[in-house]
Amino acid sequence: MTTLNNRRQLQSEATRHSPAPWVIDPELPGDVRDDSNEPVSWGADPAGPALIAAAPTHLADLITALEQIERIREVHKAETVHAITGYDCCIEDCDHEGECPTEPIEVCAECNRIAKESYRYFGENGLGNVLYPCPTIRILDGNE
Ligand SMILES: [Zn+2]
Ligand SMILES: [Zn+2]
Repeated sequence: MTTLNNRRQLQSEATRHSPAPWVIDPELPGDVRDDSNEPVSWGADPAGPALIAAAPTHLADLITALEQIERIREVHKAETVHAITGYDCCIEDCDHEGECPTEPIEVCAECNRIAKESYRYFGENGLGNVLYPCPTIRILDGNE
């Protein structure tokens, strides 16, 4: 699972090294040089230089993807709502006279918002569809 710490570690690694772009030395194909023509790697096996030269670009793309995942997690965060859960209350066969007791329920803030916006009659009986963690977070956690 990717986490905030993974991204910060990657970002630290990426910025610790010489700036991109890195290129394969045309005269010494086992060597890779940075934008100041300083070597960042030399004597690599035939498969290595292309991967090493592309590493800064790939790391930047990976960091961007991790930032997008963090943003998704920020939006699909847990939120507590209070809902009537008693069966008699739900079928309106109780004596609470409009004062039915509620219980805290953890839902996905974003999925709950979308459900309420897209269906004007969305209410407590639909909360089972927006419980936290929602499908989006379960996928990010590798549980779907
Ligand atoms: Zn009730
Ligand atoms: Zn969600």
